Amino acid sequence: MPKAKIVRVEPLNPSEEAIREAAEILKSGGLVAFPTETVYGLGADAFNPEAVLKVFKVKRRPLDNPLIVHVSSLDMLQQVASEVPERVVKALSIAWPGPLTVVVKRKSTLPEVVSGGLDTVAVRSPAHPVALKLIEAVGRPLAAPSANIAGRPSPTRAEHVVEDLGDEIDMILDAGETFFGVESTVVDLVSPSPQILRPGPLGPEELEKIFGVKFGLPPYARGLSSYEERPPSPGMKYRHYAPSKKLVLVEKGSCDTTTYFEFLMKQLESYLKDFPALIATKETVDEVRSKLGDSLTYFTLGSRENLFEVAKNLFSTLRILDKYGRVSIAISESVEERGIGLAIMNRLRKASSERITCKQKQL
Ligand code: AMP
Ligand code: MG
Repeated sequence: MPKAKIVRVEPLNPSEEAIREAAEILKSGGLVAFPTETVYGLGADAFNPEAVLKVFKVKRRPLDNPLIVHVSSLDMLQQVASEVPERVVKALSIAWPGPLTVVVKRKSTLPEVVSGGLDTVAVRSPAHPVALKLIEAVGRPLAAPSANIAGRPSPTRAEHVVEDLGDEIDMILDAGETFFGVESTVVDLVSPSPQILRPGPLGPEELEKIFGVKFGLPPYARGLSSYEERPPSPGMKYRHYAPSKKLVLVEKGSCDTTTYFEFLMKQLESYLKDFPALIATKETVDEVRSKLGDSLTYFTLGSRENLFEVAKNLFSTLRILDKYGRVSIAISESVEERGIGLAIMNRLRKASSERITCKQKQL
């Protein structure tokens, strides 16, 4: 039995009693994991530095990797942020509640530990009814990173939270699977030009519509390069979302679909003696299975026509992979880098231990 009290709640209509109990724990400095529309968060009162420090400790998260502060309204944003321009407030009135985190100037009254000593703070208002009701019941912003041990795949089910933190925290509100399955889009609104720091459910096109400006998408936001020194977002320098097994990501690179499939097949064949697993879309799994049959293990993420489905299954698949005794190596397909596909590729690149890129032969 884990130490944490696990309470099952209806995702769209959680019991008031469960919310009240969780809020009391948070108000007295405890830690509660709760569902958001992206992944499960590990909440602490953002204005209680000891509680926030506990979050870093139980997650084994480096103190220089700041937490996202969760608010239930634009008014609450003013408690943690300062000098938020009117145009940003206007855009957030459209985007919130939702899977968008904005990095803005931090209010000096917010404990420094929340934002890893930076003079900025990352804030979002989650759209999950359980998360919103919980913040409202506490009446204060909650610092809430993903409820996993640092470096592990983020939790999309309460069971994942129990696995990682069940003995370390006070309560888990279990509302079943989260809706998106990848973490929020994080954007920097403090730099001279707005940048995507971490792609998420809200893609560049939607951001442009909401804010009326184009957002930069630097290579590190695609997971293509790592920053050892002074990264624009501290979390970028750490490996993330990683299963403990070897994960080889086969990138599409400059290849057309046919050449890429042949390249992927070649990689799989070269690992056949190691009982590899293939992590791929349904279409690819079907095609590979028709050629290689049962000589490997298949993990289907969903249809390539529905990247939201693929995103939703990604982290739970990486966790299942770890439990598969027979498999020691997994080979993952790439998806198209558009919309939420950018988030999927960022997470896959950060989770992989090796990347191989297909190169189209010039005729
Ligand atoms: P998590 O809460 O685990 O989903 O991770 C939050 C992400 O937001 C990490 O990659 C952090 O580095 C990033 N982040 C949080 N606060 C800031 C900030 N003030 N400036 C830039 N990035 C931030
Ligand atoms: Mg995280």
